[in-house]
Amino acid sequence: MTQAWARGRRHFGLLELDEYLKCVRVQIPYHVVAGAEDGPTLYIQACQHGTEINGWAACREILEKVTPEGLRGTLIVVPVANPIAFQARLHGYPTEGHNMNRVWPGDARGPFLPYRMTALLYENLIMLADAAIDFHCWGDMGLPMAWTYRGRQECIRAFGTPYIMEYDLDDSMPMLQAPCERRGIPFCAIEMIPQDRIKPESAALGVTGALNLMRWLGMLEGPMDYPAERFLCAAGPVDESVAVTSEGMWVPLTARGIAVEEGQLLGRVHDWITLEPREEIRAPWSGLLYTNLAPWDRRNTNLVEPGDVVVTLRKLEAVLAPPAGPGPGEAALR
Ligand SMILES: [Zn+2]
Repeated sequence: MTQAWARGRRHFGLLELDEYLKCVRVQIPYHVVAGAEDGPTLYIQACQHGTEINGWAACREILEKVTPEGLRGTLIVVPVANPIAFQARLHGYPTEGHNMNRVWPGDARGPFLPYRMTALLYENLIMLADAAIDFHCWGDMGLPMAWTYRGRQECIRAFGTPYIMEYDLDDSMPMLQAPCERRGIPFCAIEMIPQDRIKPESAALGVTGALNLMRWLGMLEGPMDYPAERFLCAAGPVDESVAVTSEGMWVPLTARGIAVEEGQLLGRVHDWITLEPREEIRAPWSGLLYTNLAPWDRRNTNLVEPGDVVVTLRKLEAVLAPPAGPGPGEAALR
């Protein structure tokens, strides 16, 4: 497949399903920056899940920053991959239980909209791409985690946001990374935080990661933009969670998102009447303190009961300093 967009210009288009399904005929808008020079094609999408709007914010900013004059190759951006869920302010399409990010690469004649929307995007845009980025958001319980599939560590190191890993896909739920893995093209996804609200510093992670990946692909000039530390988590992920054994108020003693040592004191459960400490929670192993918030599915969440998980540690492979690029012997793809 070859691209049809004239070089050195911006383009805009709508992908449209060819018939009505469940009373709607979906149109998916896409933006293209066709660089003045030939080069790789990067596909970026957001809002497969309609509430994950930091991805939309990141797409908008990326399109503002990347100009045809400064670009080698082609950038394709779909800020809202699932316009129906997005307009309904819902995670998925309201009348179907199918999660769009579990049916890639879709089916153009499928009986449900998510199958047809994924096929529309995949066949018309993603098949043109040499690399892909998928923006998601989750609740602020966890950290803004970026991942690629196993065996593409150099790609996620290049993406360069603070928390990165290789993610093992469950074959029973094919996310966008599945067809990208089969084709062997670089792929990065990031879960920004939170859902439902645009948080500038969170959307900025998506922008930084996308621009870094474009530099690594040889599409943009300039140095990589890395934070002071990149926590490269063990592929998997590999987690260990700690539950409390007593009732009381959970008081974390450290910020999350840092590396902790085995045995380090992470927090205490206090009797809420006497205020005395009842239990100490220590790190069961050395690793990334992924979350230290109490269960979020009720109000007054720090008031915990026996069995409540209050800490999750993620196994770390390395903490990378800024100069630690994609990896030894791994040149940029051009
Ligand atoms: Zn999502």
